[in-house]
Amino acid sequence: MTTTVQTVATLTEAARAMAQGATFLGGGTIVMRDVNAGVAATQIVRTTDASLSGIRISGDKVTIGAGVTMSQIIANPDLTFLHQVARLIGGPQVRNMASVGGNLFAPHPYGDFAVALLALGAQTVMAGQNGGRPLDDLLRDRSRSPGLVAAIECPRPRDGSFGFLKFSRVKPKGVSVLSVAVLLPREGGRIRGARVAWGAMGAGPVRGASAERALEGQSLNAETIGRAAQAAAEGLTPPTDAIATDWYRREVAGVHLKRLLEQMERG
Ligand SMILES: Cc1cc2nc3c(=O)[nH]c(=O)nc-3n(C[C@H](O)[C@H](O)[C@H](O)COP(=O)(O)OP(=O)(O)OC[C@H]3O[C@@H](n4cnc5c(N)ncnc54)[C@H](O)[C@@H]3O)c2cc1C
Repeated sequence: MTTTVQTVATLTEAARAMAQGATFLGGGTIVMRDVNAGVAATQIVRTTDASLSGIRISGDKVTIGAGVTMSQIIANPDLTFLHQVARLIGGPQVRNMASVGGNLFAPHPYGDFAVALLALGAQTVMAGQNGGRPLDDLLRDRSRSPGLVAAIECPRPRDGSFGFLKFSRVKPKGVSVLSVAVLLPREGGRIRGARVAWGAMGAGPVRGASAERALEGQSLNAETIGRAAQAAAEGLTPPTDAIATDWYRREVAGVHLKRLLEQMERG
């Protein structure tokens, strides 16, 4: 089987090639593995468009080009809230190549960065389309090749309102038994607009609606944390794989959500 790699100068050309069936090549940590295994699409497209690797901060709004790598996230002093997330993805060689855009399409058990962005309420900016699209929607549709993601926009969280935890068996760079990210904006000491996102607790990154309900409108204290932990796995259907069974993931989800919320309560 012959694989053709086309390099184009603009996002528009890349999006056009994708619409005709080509697979987009980001950092290639997943695509190139498929090429080596002989299971990749025969047409691959990549772009040299510099806009894909820009990072812009405007007030509280952060825009990250889909081609930005995990290493570039870690090197950026304005993105400290994402440093820990990026550091927990693969080893140094993977982080030098792994892109933010590629992480949105990474199959289970990957997608830790997408979990963090989902909790942050990120929007995706699609090449050739006006306006943002909630990441929640893109993640639900991602198996249907929704097009070229140009960038991600998300609000910069207030200090102490965002937390991320990844639980893996091999430290520090094993894949996730599960990962969880939490955004807890507060007004007058009460949580308003809680967002909980899980990795490896469904076919892809998913919201934890039951835990969100347990947190919404409450103060962050031991009682609230206990209720959220109790509700952690409700409504979720984690897969069984070589790393953990669905039963185990459901059993430990609450333990790890409790740990993360307690860390956030301590500040
Ligand atoms: C050894 C190893 C360890 C890893 N560890 C982790 C880990 O701990 N956590 C984790 O989350 N992941 C991990 N990964 C998976 C992977 O490296 C990351 O998910 C990475 O972010 C994928 O990005 P990429 O640019 O390399 O994607 P690519 O391989 O280039 O692309 C992956 C998929 O995304 C699509 N795609 C890429 N960019 C775009 C875009 N802008 N718009 C639309 N579609 C796009 C591609 O067409 C392809 O279908 C690991 C991989 C390896 C090989």
